[in-house]
Amino acid sequence: SLPPDHPLLRALNPEQLAAVTLPPVHALVLAGAGSGKTRVLTTRIAWLLATGQASPGAILAVTFTNKAAKEMLARLSALLPLNVRGMWIGTFHGLCHRLLRAHHALAGLPATFQILDTQDQLSAIKRLLKALGVDEERVKPKELQWFIAGAKEDGLRPRDMAARDEDTRQKIELYRRYEEQCQREGVVDFGELMLRSYELLRDHEPLRVHYQRRFRHLLIDEFQDTNRLQYAWIKLLAGDESGGRFVPCGNAVMAVGDDDQSIYAFRGARVGNMSDFVREFGIDAPIKLEQNYRSVGHILHAANHLIDHNRQRLGKNLRTEQGEGDRLRVVELPSDFEEAQWVIDEIRQLTRQDGLPPQEIALLYRSNAQSRALEGALFNAGIPYRVYGGLRFFERAEIKHALAYLRLLENPHDDTSFLRVVNFPPRGIGARTIEQLQQAAREGGCSLHDAVTAVGGKGGAHLVAFVAKLDVMRERSVGRPLREIIEGVLADSGLVEHYRAEREGAERIENLEELVNAAESFVSQEGFGREAVALPLDETGPAAPVSAGVETETGETVSPLVAFLTHAALEAGDHQAQAGQAAVQLMTVHAAKGLEFDAVFITGLEEGLFPHENSLSSLDGLEEERRLMYVAITRARRRLYLTHAQTRMLHGQTRYHIPSRFLDELPEDSLQWLSPRRARAAGGWGGGWAAGGAGAAAMPVAQPAWGRSALGDDRPAGMAGIPVARAPARSEPAVSASGAEIRTGMAVFHTKFGEGRVLAIEGQGADARAQVDFRRHGTKWLALAVAKLTPVA
Ligand code: ATP
Ligand code: MG
Repeated sequence: SLPPDHPLLRALNPEQLAAVTLPPVHALVLAGAGSGKTRVLTTRIAWLLATGQASPGAILAVTFTNKAAKEMLARLSALLPLNVRGMWIGTFHGLCHRLLRAHHALAGLPATFQILDTQDQLSAIKRLLKALGVDEERVKPKELQWFIAGAKEDGLRPRDMAARDEDTRQKIELYRRYEEQCQREGVVDFGELMLRSYELLRDHEPLRVHYQRRFRHLLIDEFQDTNRLQYAWIKLLAGDESGGRFVPCGNAVMAVGDDDQSIYAFRGARVGNMSDFVREFGIDAPIKLEQNYRSVGHILHAANHLIDHNRQRLGKNLRTEQGEGDRLRVVELPSDFEEAQWVIDEIRQLTRQDGLPPQEIALLYRSNAQSRALEGALFNAGIPYRVYGGLRFFERAEIKHALAYLRLLENPHDDTSFLRVVNFPPRGIGARTIEQLQQAAREGGCSLHDAVTAVGGKGGAHLVAFVAKLDVMRERSVGRPLREIIEGVLADSGLVEHYRAEREGAERIENLEELVNAAESFVSQEGFGREAVALPLDETGPAAPVSAGVETETGETVSPLVAFLTHAALEAGDHQAQAGQAAVQLMTVHAAKGLEFDAVFITGLEEGLFPHENSLSSLDGLEEERRLMYVAITRARRRLYLTHAQTRMLHGQTRYHIPSRFLDELPEDSLQWLSPRRARAAGGWGGGWAAGGAGAAAMPVAQPAWGRSALGDDRPAGMAGIPVARAPARSEPAVSASGAEIRTGMAVFHTKFGEGRVLAIEGQGADARAQVDFRRHGTKWLALAVAKLTPVA
């Protein structure tokens, strides 16, 4: 064993050290954000290897994202002189994929099977519905997609499911047909990766025993967000059911997690896996880590205070030794537009005056749709930024087209890819021809590729020519390095030529060139030579002998092309795929899990947005939103900004919002309000409303106070020189959408916001707006052309 002052162990506190150096037993580390859970996991792997207790091949570690897996590998490579490549470190999807590749025949998959990302899955579903003549209005493709994904997460095949009603019966039948289609085309979606590899281990005992003996150590990060199937998958590798009871098989499982950060219940995550784990693996007590190393005091205090409002908690607290730091800055802005501008000004200050690198700044939001306003402002300000979870590189149209050609080289029966490029670039194959082709494929029970000769006429001739073109491309690619294969396909497919003729094609061509670069760096990272040598998928070193009778398909290899296509499909599904670069980081709170930044902005803190309106009807929903807020707060090391706007353009509509209840749930001492605090609900109003008759001046929030002084410093108040102060209020009446005349000072009623008093009216005709102070919802600006305000007697 290593002395505690060994460099590996020196940077650990006593609790962390105890967890890292546990003997090979099952353990659960249950600890709050930033307490070093991920660090413990990584260090334990290093310690196991450094002390010779485990060979790299005996380790399986599950991370939440591909990026985290890469980081873990990189850190281990830096810590140890060992060849760490033999370890299985990855996301559940990545590991399942590896298993399926190594044992594809046993799993009932063709050697060339391809992965469908979420986008492709949706188009495959649409295609299925069309082929079956099911109206998309009757069965919404997205709903069916959720249904199938949900069933797979619960480990259910169509035959395992019982219909409660006609609607479900139809969905189950469509699920069955969808499976047939995927099988025929040799593709698997993300859910299938998981379920298929689960079944593989479950149904093939020798194989299962082989891996149970091989992986002596299983380590799982972010355990609170595992779903039922993932937990069952872990259990298969760690023991067997016997007489209805789970009996662990003698390897060691270490899970780390934080129940307060469980934020994927909506996608099937089951925080109950933690208590099941403790019970089924016979764990005495979870290990707790209570020192937070990430955030300054005010940030941590705010996080603790907020999450204390949840009732469903295992309960734990965090302390820090970092000092209080700055208080959280809170600001309200009139609109999302001004919110974005305010954020930009702060970013400038952080980067210029405080010298923060842009990649140390994160802008977080609850919903992807919110990024648009922020992106616009960043773009105009010339600040480099990167959006996670938006359209990622591998999801761009031109990249998907190129990948479709590449996939067809590997597997001509991949109908999704076939349809994507059969007439792209355009080659005179019309919708009618494609319909005929699909009809022929259906009748012949074959892939589109195999059905081309069944289509007659000019269209048929074009189809045959297309397939011949693919054949030529395939022949040319044999034995070539990946880079040349891709370059060849870009040229031979006509894609580059096509985009060259397009007005906005230059950027697309750049992206296609970037694809070649991506392949190049992939090849060098994965250790492929220039020759098409293989990625050993089932390295069976001396520590892990192949059990007799197991079809491990040792020596089964995968071409660099297949490995690269897999990489592309998995990255497309990963919200943290692209990293680094000197750019401000934009992402949803969900995508920020596990990450940390010096400065964090949580934007759009408004009721209905965060907490999200879909969550408000249930306690569970609201508590999950609160955990999400806890995750958001705890991403910040030193600076945290909380912003909200009175009005916001979302989905083409201007919406009026009141501040998020979460703002009220933060400790007042840790907040610094940069704009006047607006009461959220009636309770906070005091006598202000009652005295309302005395006029606007008596109101607690009488004027939109967005001037310099309100922000407490001399930062410009508006954007690009446009003053934020509004046009002077007018005294003549305006007409509301209900036809009533509205005047300043008048008591009014609104169907959604209830009773209020008009503080000001500005603008003319269709642009007329009224500022109304609502008794229960605070001050809002309403466009009179749409707002139905009626005077109250
Ligand atoms: P989360 O719940 O957000 O995933 P976590 O519990 O996994 O957080 P880590 O990311 O492992 O926490 O650690 C948080 C930060 O604290 C990291 O920057 C890490 O390097 C640092 N850290 C952890 N333990 C120590 C320690 N003993 N000494 C110094 N720094 C530490
Ligand atoms: Mg972590």
